[in-house]
This record gives sequence, C-alpha cells and structure tokens, in this order.
Amino acid sequence: MKMQNLAGKIAVITGASSGIGEASARLLVSEGVNVILVARRKDRIDRLAAELGSQAVSFMADVADEKQVAALFDFVEQKFGGLDLLFNNAGVGINGAFAGSLSPDWHKQIDTNIYGVLNCTHAAIPLMKDRSGAMISTVSSTGGRAGASGWAVYCATKFAVIGFHDSLRKELGVQGIRVALIEPGAVWTEWGGTTENDPAHQHREQVNALQPEDIAQALVYSFAQPAGVLVGEILVRPVRQLD
Ligand code: NDP
Repeated sequence: MKMQNLAGKIAVITGASSGIGEASARLLVSEGVNVILVARRKDRIDRLAAELGSQAVSFMADVADEKQVAALFDFVEQKFGGLDLLFNNAGVGINGAFAGSLSPDWHKQIDTNIYGVLNCTHAAIPLMKDRSGAMISTVSSTGGRAGASGWAVYCATKFAVIGFHDSLRKELGVQGIRVALIEPGAVWTEWGGTTENDPAHQHREQVNALQPEDIAQALVYSFAQPAGVLVGEILVRPVRQLD
C-alpha cells in the first residue's frame, strides 16, 4: 500500500516551543501539514509560527489546565473543522532520589505528563471522527518501559501513558483512529536540564544522544502509513544507550 500524502492534514503539536515538538513541527510542515503549535512560552511558539509561515499557527496553553485545553480544541474546530494528528509531546522530567523529593515536583510531572495527555486526548477524539488516517501519537520514554534511578516519578508517568494507550487503542481502533506511542531514549533537548551538572546532560554525552529530528522522523514515518496501518509503538535509542 502507498504511504499517505500528508499535505493538507491538520496536526496539534503540544510542547512545540523546543526540542522534539519543534523539530516535529518543522518536519510536518515540510510534508505539507498544517500545524497548531502549543506550549506555555508564547514568544517561542509565536516566533516558530512566524518562521514556518502560513501552515503554522501558535496557541498558548498549559496542557495540564483543562479549560485552556478546551479553548485550544474549540479554536482547532472553528479554524480547521477537524483534526488528523494529535502529537502529545509536552512533558517534564525532574531528577532526584525519590526519598528527598517534594510533592510539588510530583504534581508538576503528573499534571503535565498524565493529565496533559488525558486532557488533550479527550478533547481531540471528537474532532477525529470520520477523518481517514487520524492518529493520536504520544511520547512516552524508554523510562516508561524500565525505571531509572533518580527518575521514579517521571518514569511512573511514562509507564502510565503506556497503559493508557494500550487501552485506548482497543477503544478507538474500531473507529479507525490510530493510537500510537513513541518511546525515545536520550535526546539532545532542554528536557531534564541543560547545564553540564544536570544528570540528563551527562547521560546524553555518555550515550551520544539522538537529535530531536530523529524522533520527528519516527512520528512522520508512523503518521504517513496507509490509513489502515498502525505502527503502534516505536522505541528509538541512541545505539550506545543500553538501558
Ligand atoms: P523539551 O524540554 O525541549 O520540550 C518539552 C516541551 O514541553 C516544551 O515545548 C515545553 O514548552 C512543553 N511543556 C512542558 N510542560 C508543559 C505544559 N504544562 N503545557 C504545555 N507545554 C508544556 O524536551 P523534549 O523535546 O525532550 O521533550 C518532549 C517529550 O519527550 C517529553 O514528553 C519528554 O518527557 C520526552 N522524552 C524526552 C527525552 C529526552 O532525552 N529529551 C527522552 C524520552 C522522552 P513550554 O515550557 O513552553 O510550555
């Protein structure tokens, strides 16, 4: 079967202000997709939208906030009339031994990484009805398959995302909506900190981490499959990363 032509499709990308989301926006636009760039840092998504031109529009929202997410999908419905791709990519990771961690940091990660996915997915499903090849793709992590020391709450959120998607796939498959996961290993982004002392940064150097574009390619590969084909899970690691 031929790959889908993505030109003219409509995609919401959460966490589009940096890293994997930004790279995905660039690649989707180059495939002819119209993108809605979502994040809290308005200056960043406004600048990216201006750079990408008429196929991109920015919408500032905190995915953890149900009302802001409702406003986002109202906007999408009014402007585009439907949705072909929801890329649930926004995410936060806070490092530290669990015994010394504080509950506000648990909430930050759970609110964005779990409630953010639930809020966006719940609001997106009605807009995907009868859209051939519609897809919900969510970013988990290799840490969502095996825990990692110093990342207990983060890994818990990413395990949760996998459980949610395994179930959602069984609910939405019969409607023709594809539900998929991308599980990156270490990627050079702002996630987990960017200074040399941040453990995430050190790990990236050790394993010769991926570039955000490597993950964007996995997204486009899965989205462009024929409408009846679900590439349900893509785990992408740097070759030197063993865990
Ligand atoms: P970045 O920190 O570069 O990007 C994270 C994005 O999420 C930013 O655009 C940020 O925008 C957005 N974001 C965070 N919280 C919220 C929120 N509450 N509402 C809306 N947007 C939010 O890191 P990555 O690109 O690496 O992260 C993308 C995804 O990849 C995350 O889910 C992360 O957990 C996952 N991941 C990353 C790995 C890595 O090594 N980099 C490895 C495995 C998974 P803003 O602050 O402007 O709101």
